[in-house]
Amino acid sequence: MTAEIRDAKALIVGASVAGVRVARDLRRLGFNGPIVMTSAEELLPYDKPPLSKQYLAGAFDASRVSLLDATEVDDLQIDLRLGSRAAELHAHEKVVVDASGAEFPYDVCVVATGASARPSPWGGDRRVHLLRTIADSDRLRSGLADSTKVGVIGGGLIGSEVAGTAAKGGAEVTVIDPLTSPMSRLVGEDVAHDFLTAHHRHGVTTRFGVGVEALTEDDSGVDVVLSDGSNLRFDLVVVGIGASTNDGWLAGSGVETGQGIECDRFGRVTGLEGVYAAGDVARWPRPPFGEPRRVEHWTNAVEQAATVAANILRPADPVGYDPVDYVWSDQHDLKLQLVGWPEHSKLYCVVGQRDRMPPRYAALYADERGILSGAATVNWPRGLAECRRLVAERVPVAAAKHRLEALATPAVAPPAL
Ligand SMILES: Cc1cc2nc3c(=O)[nH]c(=O)nc-3n(C[C@H](O)[C@H](O)[C@H](O)COP(=O)(O)OP(=O)(O)OC[C@H]3O[C@@H](n4cnc5c(N)ncnc54)[C@H](O)[C@@H]3O)c2cc1C
Repeated sequence: MTAEIRDAKALIVGASVAGVRVARDLRRLGFNGPIVMTSAEELLPYDKPPLSKQYLAGAFDASRVSLLDATEVDDLQIDLRLGSRAAELHAHEKVVVDASGAEFPYDVCVVATGASARPSPWGGDRRVHLLRTIADSDRLRSGLADSTKVGVIGGGLIGSEVAGTAAKGGAEVTVIDPLTSPMSRLVGEDVAHDFLTAHHRHGVTTRFGVGVEALTEDDSGVDVVLSDGSNLRFDLVVVGIGASTNDGWLAGSGVETGQGIECDRFGRVTGLEGVYAAGDVARWPRPPFGEPRRVEHWTNAVEQAATVAANILRPADPVGYDPVDYVWSDQHDLKLQLVGWPEHSKLYCVVGQRDRMPPRYAALYADERGILSGAATVNWPRGLAECRRLVAERVPVAAAKHRLEALATPAVAPPAL
């Protein structure tokens, strides 16, 4: 690493998991230069996964979701600028300007502005909630405390988690989604059915296969009209229909915006010298798909941040990112862990105990050549670790099945003499 690189001016825009990890990794790898990290939010950085789980349930307080406290900000010598929303990037001048007009010059810039919850296309006000930030989670928690009937529009990862948390808290929950079962796009109909029955086992009503036509809110509740003509009334509604990228501020900088920022496999933003992007806002090449694509998972943000930090320090010899995707989700009594790309593969088999309650198994998915290309495990972290290794090794799915069967059925110990 040359002294010039080690002492450069680094600017990180966005202070959530991707931004914070870049800052931390830069220091760990010996970066000496000034690090300025800007955040649109006024709060110290916090983590998002617990916001639909333990934090929403009240089991974690704010200290348990902290990503970076004031002491570490000092220790790492980060110049953290809270409440600074980046508004423009001028590539020739190498400067980012925020909404107040403050200028942040850089030698190297990392875009880590993530994504925002997609707003309700049906409108809504006080009783209609989105969930992305800690403020959203606080507001939802207090709304749930005053509500009995709760509607969740969107049965994906976040919607299903919120449904589980609200039901555990005593609410009468209904999940609505035009898909036929929760997360069927991700894990396929067969495995998705287990998540549907988990909702039912925990008292959640489901309306899968129907869309929302209209939503109207009055002082005492929310009416939701479904595409089959039925009308449901709730005290509170959560809209969990995905996220959109926070890349609009880069319009005019020379990159395409709206679908995430396109990068090469080293994390360098295509067409902007000295600029990298990581996390939910970034579109990196994914080897199995060809086209660069975004991945909205926590581990992806952490791994891309590590790659970016390393490559900032070795620009002449960058390392590529060739991940096995990983995401987890906690819904009712099911811990789902996904590796690889089940959504683009065919379910091959299920290994483990699927019929016991709660179940514990691994679903293995294969590509058209019969190679293990993804796995979904339920309540089986050990199985997951094995699947992750096997997906990375691109083993034939039949071999993976044998391996998982051996793991699921421990050898009988010889009788003690
Ligand atoms: C409720 C919830 C539960 C989740 N659960 C899981 C889970 O169980 N497992 C999992 O793998 N993933 C989960 N995720 C996804 C995971 O949290 C995200 O992938 C991760 O937060 C992405 O991190 P990021 O740093 O790229 O972006 P973000 O976390 O979106 O952070 C971006 C930051 O940039 C700031 N910002 C935006 N625009 C600007 C601007 N113009 N200027 C300055 N700052 C800006 C934002 O305010 C924010 O602080 C969950 C997400 C949510 C919302």
